Parts: sequence; structure tokens; C-alpha cells
Amino acid sequence: MAIDLAAYKNILSEIADKHVTLVAVSKFKPVEDIQALYDLGQKDFGENFVQELVLKYEALPKDIHWHFIGHLQTNKVKYIAPFIHLIHGVDKEKLLIEIDKQAAKQGRKIDCLLQLHIAEEETKFGFDESELAVIVGNINANKYPNVNIRGLMGMASFTNDAEKVKSEFKKLAGLARTTQTSIEGSDLLSMGMSGDYALAVAEGSNMIRIGSLLFGARQV
Ligand SMILES: *Cc1c(COP(=O)(O)O)cnc(C)c1O
Repeated sequence: MAIDLAAYKNILSEIADKHVTLVAVSKFKPVEDIQALYDLGQKDFGENFVQELVLKYEALPKDIHWHFIGHLQTNKVKYIAPFIHLIHGVDKEKLLIEIDKQAAKQGRKIDCLLQLHIAEEETKFGFDESELAVIVGNINANKYPNVNIRGLMGMASFTNDAEKVKSEFKKLAGLARTTQTSIEGSDLLSMGMSGDYALAVAEGSNMIRIGSLLFGARQV
């Protein structure tokens, strides 16, 4: 088995009574590995690429909750709109408008998280604080009726400086609390990956996205 069972059990026990959802990030990993984790009871999986996700969706059990955690291009929303459980990385209004349109076509509402730019790296995506305020205003004006904003998502800087990561998570958690008071049902905070999930949970994350700890390092 190519999955790390001990790591899986360890993470589950760490989050056991904390109301934290573990999203197993399975990008670049074969369907056999996903099936193996599914057979142990794991239902939430995260993918970064639309084509790969669609193939896996077709091959695997239909009660899997698929999370899209990558950078989603507007022209690809239609491929995942029929089945996606939660889109984590909404980072542009244009994308929100397209998700709303495709959700309407499917006769469903799609759950989304707004991605916030909290890291130092310019290469990372996401809204800044003032852009968030504008989007929250639009949501309250019911501009995207087929989208449910369920909370925020973010990625900390890629660094060994734990204090820095911690302060970025703290900032995101603060924004998440503010957002929660203005958007009903926006109670999710997706933050934390293999290298920093413990810090994230300590700062209030309730959804962690873990790949390499569970499936091993990726080649790509
Ligand atoms: C790949 C990825 C993860 C998982 O990263 P690991 O370090 O392997 O746990 C989490 N979140 C996002 C947005 C990713 O792209």
C-alpha cells in the first residue's frame, strides 16, 4: 500500500475532538491510493487539476466529497460544476460569476471558499483585505445566488520560520471571524498543509489539506 497508514491515524487522532475536517490531497496520485484511503473511511479528497479530477471522479465511488484546491480557470468551471463538493480557491470575482452561472445550469448551489493572500510570496493567489470587503458586500447584495460562501482559505509562506507562519494564520483566522459575522453559514477555515497543519489548527483552522504526509512526496 502506497499510503502511510500510521500518518493517517496519527493525524486523525490529533484532530479527533476538534471539529476539523481532513482533506486528503491526492493530486498526481493513482486512483488505487485514493481507493485504499477511502476503504479506511476517508471521504474528503482534494485535487488541483480539472482534467485529473474529472477522470478520478468517474473512476471512484460517487459518495466521495471532491474538493478543488488548485487555481481554477474560469473556462474549466463547467467540467466540475455537476459534482464538486467545495471549491477552495476562489480568488477573482470573474471566477465567482462563472461558478454562479454554471451552478445555475446544473440546478444546484456550489459551496465555495474565498482565497485570501496572506503569504509574502507574490506568486500565491488570493484577495487582499479590501477586495474581500467588496466581495462580501456583493454576496450580501445577493449577486451570486447559486453560490454558498462557506468561509475562507489561505496558504502561509513557504518558510521554516514558524513565528511568521503563525502570524499569517492568525491574520487569516481574524478575517475568517469577521467574514463569519457578515455571511451566514461561512464557518469554514481551510488552512494548513503537511508542513504546517499543527500551527494552523492551533490558530483555529477547521479544514486541513494534507497530501505528502499521507501519500508520500510527489515527483512533480
Ligand atoms: C498540494 C497542496 C496541498 C497539499 O500539500 P502537502 O504539503 O503535500 O500536504 C494543500 N493545499 C494546496 C492548495 C495544495 O496545492
